[in-house]
Amino acid sequence: MSATTPTHIVIDIGHARGTGARGCGAEEHDRCEIIAGHLAAALRATGYTVSVLDYPDRSNTADLVATATAANRITTATCGISLHMDAASRPVDNTATFGNTWNEPDPAPRGAHVCYLSPTGERIAAAVARELCALLPGRAQPTVQRRDLYILKHTRAPWVLCECGFITNPQDATTDPAAVAAAIAAGLRRYLEQA
Ligand SMILES: [Zn+2]
Repeated sequence: MSATTPTHIVIDIGHARGTGARGCGAEEHDRCEIIAGHLAAALRATGYTVSVLDYPDRSNTADLVATATAANRITTATCGISLHMDAASRPVDNTATFGNTWNEPDPAPRGAHVCYLSPTGERIAAAVARELCALLPGRAQPTVQRRDLYILKHTRAPWVLCECGFITNPQDATTDPAAVAAAIAAGLRRYLEQA
């Protein structure tokens, strides 16, 4: 990265309010909004320009479209990161009492992972996952290439999508959001210093 080129990072708070995953008394947009606040502060303290994209009052689909459109208008964007939380469920056999089976949150799965699509996204994901998965371990694969995620397919800047642990896991859901943000910031700094 040239010293004369300002680094500009776009943070996307995943989902509209109330449209994401729930668990452990938490809601995905709420938690990602808190992490995003800490992350923006940490990156600005490093000297980076930061834009935060959030459309909390739209539908989930409208949020995605608006986010990609706004992201692509930021022509100075160095890279972008979407913040999400995973969720897990398990079938519970209630045939003896209620005559059926239903799904309920599964508290066991835990751990962060980072999704990417492009080769540059892969390098960003690896740098972020190295920090984030040390704080939130548990996934077999710290980074995953995803060809089906709207935000990765429709943004022009290199982009990654961070699953900041499972909202259905009590440990992940209560990990200090400032620590989650600090881990992501450390990973982004490492990538940007090497880029
Ligand atoms: Zn999500």
